[in-house]
Amino acid sequence: MAEQKRDYYEVLGVDKNASDEDLKKAYRALAKKYHPDANPGDKTAEAKFKEASEAYAVLSDAEKRRQYDQFGHSAFEGGAGGFDYSNMDFSDIFGGFGDIFGDLFGGAFGGYGSRTRGASNGPMKGANIRTTVRLTFLEAVFGCEKKVDLTVQETCTKCNGTGAKAGTQPETCSTCGGRGQVVRTRQSMLGVVRTTEVCPDCRGKGKIIRDKCPDCNGNGFIPMKKTYSVKVPAGIDDGQAINLPGLGDPGVNGGPRGDVRVECIVAPHEEFERDGMDIYSVVPISFAVAALGGPIYVNTVDGKVVYDVKAGTQTNSRIRLKGKGVPSWRNKDLRGNHYVTLVVQTPDKLSPEAKEHLKAFDALTGDTLHTVEKSGDAEAPASAKKKGKKWKL
Ligand SMILES: [Zn+2]
Ligand SMILES: [Zn+2]
Repeated sequence: MAEQKRDYYEVLGVDKNASDEDLKKAYRALAKKYHPDANPGDKTAEAKFKEASEAYAVLSDAEKRRQYDQFGHSAFEGGAGGFDYSNMDFSDIFGGFGDIFGDLFGGAFGGYGSRTRGASNGPMKGANIRTTVRLTFLEAVFGCEKKVDLTVQETCTKCNGTGAKAGTQPETCSTCGGRGQVVRTRQSMLGVVRTTEVCPDCRGKGKIIRDKCPDCNGNGFIPMKKTYSVKVPAGIDDGQAINLPGLGDPGVNGGPRGDVRVECIVAPHEEFERDGMDIYSVVPISFAVAALGGPIYVNTVDGKVVYDVKAGTQTNSRIRLKGKGVPSWRNKDLRGNHYVTLVVQTPDKLSPEAKEHLKAFDALTGDTLHTVEKSGDAEAPASAKKKGKKWKL
């Protein structure tokens, strides 16, 4: 990255919890101020306009906003789950801005907007369908196959997708001559602007249906329930999505189908925690094992393994089980590690015999640490004071 990008929220001057309406308002104010038509030849204004537009394009899209909140600008530098923003044509971004610029420039927007509108009766990719799938911790670690139920628009077989009643054909729209767009001249806040707009009669389709197909009500499509099988790769993490290209809603005017994006929601595990490719867990060990060393069982995602505790292990020592973590979803041969925190358990229920042994052990080891040797050389403990007892060893 050649230059440091400003935070998108900062660019728009809104806080992280800003609603869609807040974003729109903030962006509209900036767009009005910095729009190139209002600042001819002003490079700074143009840069600011683009910066604000980019910020709005990302934050106004729920999924992109989520990715940005999670990964920052790096979400859009290519790689896992991101998209390469640098290759994006600005006309793509402004294509979705009809509503804003519609209000702002009275439906008239010279530069960016009209380029995409011009293609309104051309082939357009269908809408993406978003759905979620719930996975257990281990399903996410090792991958699995899941079924997702979706409602997808399918071509109506009665009319073959034309939307016209059997025996009739859609007519060419007379308002736009089948082009799907009309040219308008308008007075706007920026002066007289000539613009191309979506034809109001055919809504950009270029065709008008007089007798609608009763099966699909003239849409040409019928919603159908479908079940897709999704191969979840080993190593997928909570919030990551699997893309099923070409299984979304049908395209318009011969465009390709959209995609299905399946977001994974991974349930927590009662014993393991995950951070990327590494797994963490806590295993209690007895004082004797900690002191003497010896084999213990440790649960891993591969099942029980035996670990040989070193003699003299302190509580909260962390050990590493190499390669027992989560596989990389890009490279199956790569696996993270499993880190285990060994916690020494202090016995709280001792038989009189065990107590005697422990006292004998203490005497043998000669470990005094902070042991009190005689009363009166320090303040009495709180417990003794409270009970009003005379404090003695
Ligand atoms: Zn039909
Ligand atoms: Zn028309």
